[in-house]
Amino acid sequence: MTSIPLLREREKQIHDKAGGAPFEMACDRHSLAGSVSQRACVFCGSRVVLYPIADALHLVHGPIGCAAYTWDIRGALSSGPQLHRMSFSTDLGEREVIFGGEKRLYKALTELIAAYRPKAAFVYSTCIVGIIGDDVAAVCRRVEKEQAIPVLPVHSEGFKGTKKDGYKAACDALFGLVGTGDTTDIAPVSINILGEFNIGGEAWLIRRYYEQMGVQVVSVLTGDGRVDDVRRAHGATLNVVQCSGAMTFLAEQMQARFGIPYIRASYFGLEDTAKALYDVAAHFSDHPDVRARTETLVREAVAAVMPELRRIRAVLEGKCAAVYVGGAFKVFSLIKALRLIGMRVVLAGSQTGNADDYAHMRALCDPDTVILDDANPLELSRFVVEKGADLFIGGVKERPIAYKLGLGFCDHNHERKTPLAGFEGMRNFAREVHLSVTSPVWEIVKQSSFKC
Ligand code: SF4
Repeated sequence: MTSIPLLREREKQIHDKAGGAPFEMACDRHSLAGSVSQRACVFCGSRVVLYPIADALHLVHGPIGCAAYTWDIRGALSSGPQLHRMSFSTDLGEREVIFGGEKRLYKALTELIAAYRPKAAFVYSTCIVGIIGDDVAAVCRRVEKEQAIPVLPVHSEGFKGTKKDGYKAACDALFGLVGTGDTTDIAPVSINILGEFNIGGEAWLIRRYYEQMGVQVVSVLTGDGRVDDVRRAHGATLNVVQCSGAMTFLAEQMQARFGIPYIRASYFGLEDTAKALYDVAAHFSDHPDVRARTETLVREAVAAVMPELRRIRAVLEGKCAAVYVGGAFKVFSLIKALRLIGMRVVLAGSQTGNADDYAHMRALCDPDTVILDDANPLELSRFVVEKGADLFIGGVKERPIAYKLGLGFCDHNHERKTPLAGFEGMRNFAREVHLSVTSPVWEIVKQSSFKC
């Protein structure tokens, strides 16, 4: 393979532990123009956070392409309504770019609310709306008054920052709902689960763990989400925030206004799942029964999956993985989960990590791991080959890179269909990795066919 040169302006966003250079990771910055970043836009960041609220109307105010790009983007599962799976758009064209799109937005909103009777509506601003200057908030206020449901503007113009800014715009919109519902039947031992999107049914698994521990789950934000649950989320006594970036903003806002503390958690891998549950039990330390039930749950769940994990480990021992996903917190968990099944991580990176995240990631990684922030496809291709990865873990945009290079792939993002979180999720993850890495197809697709 021809060696792929790196863009000079991106050199500080790449660190090879084996190189011995000082660790000064540049991150938390806008993507370099022309780099073809793997990152999504601000609008997409908002969309992925709010999309799983299944009884809300989601209207994309912009050209049809923005709606098509994020149509059913996460495939997040709902136990009831399916309204979130529709991708409504105001389909702005040249006429609206010249004369404004507010009338069209008003018409679309009122017609859709009449047709679908949603519990609330989210209206997403896209790039073009930021350019032509439609007053989306004013239209939302008018429709909210007329239709008597919450109509929330999401200020997510695609060009105005990074995907992380989209998370914040989504949290700002959600915060408009929190605090408006009835909290009378909420127990003192209660939590909200933030940052869990129920892509493969994970929210149901995690909710079940907490219920077994005797902890009431007031709302999951936003997996299998319901507007009424969001409205009464301020009645919980603790917020448990999964993932490093997506919903920390909301947790901070709820702490400031309602005095609800928050802790961070990850449910990927046995170690982190157990830690998450024990941390919640520790928060309710004046209820020792919660701790006792947690110990039983963890002991039994780990014992149920370990025999199979040991069998898989015997096959995968010494294999190498590349991990490139959205949030850095997930990378930490994946490094530990892969180690449990005998694999080393030779490439680790994220779209949205900050300086603390990368320092922690570096400490967790093996001595020859390369760490990447906001990578592009050519960088990923180069290091995956140079480091000899047998498996790539990523999302929809990393899948073709892996397949073109002739190595196994595990989707740990929007397109997975089985739950990968929790104890059962770790078993599913190990099975998928095992199947992909040991597939005979990679003997046919030779890596040497890749040329740059
Ligand atoms: S909001 Fe802008 S960057 Fe995002 S999909 Fe639409 S046009 Fe593209």
